[in-house]
Amino acid sequence: MENILKQLPQKAKEAEPENKKFFSKLKKKPPKHLDSLMQELHEEEFQRTDCLTCANCCKTTGPLVTDKDIERISKHFRMKPQQFIETYLRIDEDKDYVLQSVPCTFLGADNYCSIYEVRPKACREFPHTDRKKFQQISNLTMQNVAICPAAFNIVEEMKRLLNK
Ligand code: SF4
Ligand code: SF4
Repeated sequence: MENILKQLPQKAKEAEPENKKFFSKLKKKPPKHLDSLMQELHEEEFQRTDCLTCANCCKTTGPLVTDKDIERISKHFRMKPQQFIETYLRIDEDKDYVLQSVPCTFLGADNYCSIYEVRPKACREFPHTDRKKFQQISNLTMQNVAICPAAFNIVEEMKRLLNK
């Protein structure tokens, strides 16, 4: 996995022109079965890829943290929401709460998330490859393929299947 992660930014850069073309076509005319295809590709890929050998998302990009996340996680720590915010969060340029630092404070040396059961919604949903109307998040996906090896493989497989 270490090698895969090392090569990923370069591979994503090389795939970018093709990905741009592919997603622009996909946005104009998404196939009717896209939602079910994404479910399938996502499940197949995550049977092969074990996030515990990777954790690159937790190491390199923090999630956006919503008010609901703050409520749930601060309760878990028996902290007041304000205290949780002051200890772990900052406001970014889009005025959203994000983590003060990456790698994420809650990531263990064994790649386990210490707040897994109550982790932010964005962590639960990353890399969003099983979401409905996948064509609507193509810009985000093009960024994610440089971080997430599973997302990279899923996009490559989409291109293989849909570019026929
Ligand atoms: S979601 Fe992607 S980047 Fe995050 S741990 Fe799993 S494979 Fe790695
Ligand atoms: S909260 Fe957990 S899942 Fe989310 S970035 Fe931190 S370690 Fe990863």
